[in-house]
Amino acid sequence: MCGIVGIVDAGGVSLPLYYALYALQHRGQESAGISVFNGTHLRKYKAPGLVAEVFDTEILRGLQGSVGIGHVRYPTTGANLPENIQPFNFQFMGRSFAIAHNGNLVNTAGIRAEFERAGQIFCTSTDTEVIATMIAAELRQSGSIEDAIRSLMLHLRGSYSVVMVYEDVLYAFRDPLGLKPLCIGTTSGGYIVASESVAIDALSGELLRDVVPGELVRIDGDGITSTRIATADRVAHCFFEYIYFARADSIIDGVLVYDVRRRIGQKLYEEAPVDVDSVCPIPDSGTAYGIGYSEASGIPLLEGLMKNRYMGRTFIMPTQAARERAVRMKLNPIRHHLENKSVVLIDDSIVRGTTSRRIVQLVRDAGAREVHLRIGSPPIRAPCYLGVDMPTREELIASGRSEDEVCESVTATSLHYISLEELVKAIGRDSTDLCTGCLTGCYPVPIDGEIEHRRVVEFADETVQLDLESFGESV
Ligand code: 5GP
Ligand code: MG
Repeated sequence: MCGIVGIVDAGGVSLPLYYALYALQHRGQESAGISVFNGTHLRKYKAPGLVAEVFDTEILRGLQGSVGIGHVRYPTTGANLPENIQPFNFQFMGRSFAIAHNGNLVNTAGIRAEFERAGQIFCTSTDTEVIATMIAAELRQSGSIEDAIRSLMLHLRGSYSVVMVYEDVLYAFRDPLGLKPLCIGTTSGGYIVASESVAIDALSGELLRDVVPGELVRIDGDGITSTRIATADRVAHCFFEYIYFARADSIIDGVLVYDVRRRIGQKLYEEAPVDVDSVCPIPDSGTAYGIGYSEASGIPLLEGLMKNRYMGRTFIMPTQAARERAVRMKLNPIRHHLENKSVVLIDDSIVRGTTSRRIVQLVRDAGAREVHLRIGSPPIRAPCYLGVDMPTREELIASGRSEDEVCESVTATSLHYISLEELVKAIGRDSTDLCTGCLTGCYPVPIDGEIEHRRVVEFADETVQLDLESFGESV
């Protein structure tokens, strides 16, 4: 997971890129970066840390230009090293380009090895550099970005939403299965492409539509062109974007994330009703689910845990005692709301189970009699190879365990996960248009040792000139 953004605006892009990245901060807290083309050169600034820590007015003033991209990083592949911070800038045959990527590829090791045998050297351990190298290799042959992206889509397996600056042009494309989100909107004097619509909201822009899976969008001072490079018979949107990763106020592929979570909360009550004193969402990721559960049950929503919003995720503690303290600082139980009460805790997901176990214990220690747990995602039983940090089967608490066994392990009074059927209904798409690999162990791309649910991808050659008026219906 990562957050990406690209902006073309004659009024300057550095400040809008900064605001957009700020809105996408939840997608990655490890590092942040911006690259801007100033008419002759690409300038970049990137560093470890949160967006607000990395940039200041002085730095943004040094990033003048009318086209640029930005990135916030959440590590999946590529170690936590300074050279892996995106965007990457490249010089190539007298021209410069910059690239930022959200996603994870499953076949880059072989591609990279092939390049290395041909004498190519790499500066980082990321997939993103392999993508850039493939683009450069194709550009060397044909000189056409469209051909380069077509070749890329033919050869790459995995998830990739990409923004790229090639001199004064912004390119954006999304893998043919649409695994990771990417949408287009307006800014005061131009266009923005971003992982989530909240980045467009932050600029008071208008969400136009999503980048279609397999589409290449080209934006410059004259407007937008779209090329539909590849079309899959079924797409594979990552369901976990709706469950946890995206902000609840984002609209992804036409669906408000908040609606999905709230409806799942309602269905959690219908599937597993429980008579308790209060519904208690685990902040912040459980909130919309808790609201739905309270609506459906008529049981009052009453927060039992308050989150300290000023505690970063970088609160790394050396000892177990210090880590326990950190959990207490991050989530403080409200004893008055919990003592001698029965409560239902609502959260979005259980991955390893360690957080959930600690939270149940915290609520019990505050005097709760019964602590029921309801979860907005079905059990996560298999790893994610396509961008989410879902670890090995051994580390996943629901892998090889029944619901009862997980319930016992996290010491809850009762436990229920939403059914796959209701999850799919809440998202409002056909189940075959979603990637549910971490739930089913069945993946939309071939992965060694795993089961594939194959998609057929066709390569077309359609370019359409778009203007703002015809935007919505063109693709
Ligand atoms: P667990 O009980 O598995 O230790 O933690 C579950 C909690 O982790 C849930 O509240 C969920 O919101 C959160 N969570 C789920 N996926 C991720 C992720 O990829 N990164 C982080 N930082 N938290 C996650
Ligand atoms: Mg959470």
